[in-house]
Amino acid sequence: MKIFNTLSKEKEGFEKKDVKMFVCGPTVYDNSHLGHARTYIAYDIIAKYLRYRNYNLFFLMNITDVDDKIISRAIETKKDPKQIAAQFEKAFMEDLKTLGIDTIDKFARASEHIAEIIDQIQRLVKKKFAYETATGVYFDITKFDDYGKLSHQNTEELKKHRIEPDTTKKHPHDFSLWKRKDKTELGWDSPFGFGRPGWHIEDTAISEKYLGTQYDIHGGAIDLIFPHHEAEIAQMESVSGKKPMVRIWTHTGFLLVNSEKMSKSLGNFITIKDAVKKHDPEVIRLFFAMSHYRSPINFDENNLKQTKNTLETLYNTLSVLKNIEKGKEDDGLQAEIERIKRTFLEHMDDDFNTPYAISSIFELIDLVNKFASTGKKISKNSKDLLGTTLMEMCNIFGILKNYAPPEISEDVKKLIDEREIARKKKDYKKADAVRVKLEKMGIVLEDTKNGVKWKRKF
Ligand code: AMP
Repeated sequence: MKIFNTLSKEKEGFEKKDVKMFVCGPTVYDNSHLGHARTYIAYDIIAKYLRYRNYNLFFLMNITDVDDKIISRAIETKKDPKQIAAQFEKAFMEDLKTLGIDTIDKFARASEHIAEIIDQIQRLVKKKFAYETATGVYFDITKFDDYGKLSHQNTEELKKHRIEPDTTKKHPHDFSLWKRKDKTELGWDSPFGFGRPGWHIEDTAISEKYLGTQYDIHGGAIDLIFPHHEAEIAQMESVSGKKPMVRIWTHTGFLLVNSEKMSKSLGNFITIKDAVKKHDPEVIRLFFAMSHYRSPINFDENNLKQTKNTLETLYNTLSVLKNIEKGKEDDGLQAEIERIKRTFLEHMDDDFNTPYAISSIFELIDLVNKFASTGKKISKNSKDLLGTTLMEMCNIFGILKNYAPPEISEDVKKLIDEREIARKKKDYKKADAVRVKLEKMGIVLEDTKNGVKWKRKF
């Protein structure tokens, strides 16, 4: 598999089987919009695909629940910042569920990792990468030679950015690790005085705790490359002395409205909650998957309407396939399905090229339609292969989930329970025998982290 690395600006080979991935989560001060959905759906598809390809993925996401935006919102609404964060974290979780984003293994709130944050800052100060002033603690970017390597900026270019103006800093572009605050504000006691953490240190403290000092994939949208991810590298590589902190840095392109980033500050956003009132979540997923994750996407209601038709075609194909008569078929059909599947995988292996992969799905649809329109028969094996291949491909994009198989009978339910009991008693012989019996009845079992799941054999 090849994945584009923002650091090298190249597609790099990636074959490691145990994969640790960290994606920057939301700042929970308001409802999430479709721009956020664009990024989180992209990583959900990447995670689904990695798991489909048998990578053993651990997917971590932080929740920024300590941030100036949350505090401003709390002041505006006369609420407690913790209440604001809890309210919008809950809303975010609801949005993920609605959009079928179900691949994240662990969410980690900044507010629950203050001890780890303080500890990381202390180590940075001890190693002289950070210094204390009257207003807090800052990272001294002159101590880290690689600063700028992710955003590909030299020292002169970096100096043009005015980061967090503060007269006590040694250099204008040093960034804050700890901000001293008045005791009346949200904050924690620390060796550097009462206050709260800077944004960048929240993420490296969390990633160090759950993924270690070096891990495989880090993600977010392109706006996070600088200063956020650049600062993360500076912090982590300085603290650990190990490079690289992250093997592959990935970044999603923006969802745009009239060529501008969809964002809260520009007021050109549609919340996920409003969008799903108008558009089926699967339409939204397919709409995003039809562009490459690194490409910008223009938000366009008409395109979304066209995507609805495309999704309907996919659902209809399943019904068309079901109704094709079984019989003897022309030679070569199974080989053709396998060829299409191989091409699909090649596209996905090439930096998750979803738009090309979707074109392989359409090749399968054409095959089905060719049989349906000519009245040709199709063998049971090919029919099964076509159905399962189509479903497998679509499941990676999180679509066709509403193609619900009919309810299972009481007998089947009993057998599933029987197998579970046998499995728990480690009577694998019996468990396997029941599995085979169920397969003969057209039910395939899948053991997942959340228990046993069943699907109907197509
Ligand atoms: P925030 O809550 O603003 O920190 O954003 C959470 C994630 O959504 C980050 O990875 C952002 O870069 C990403 N994001 C925000 N707006 C957009 C957009 N218009 N298109 C794509 N990703 C976005």
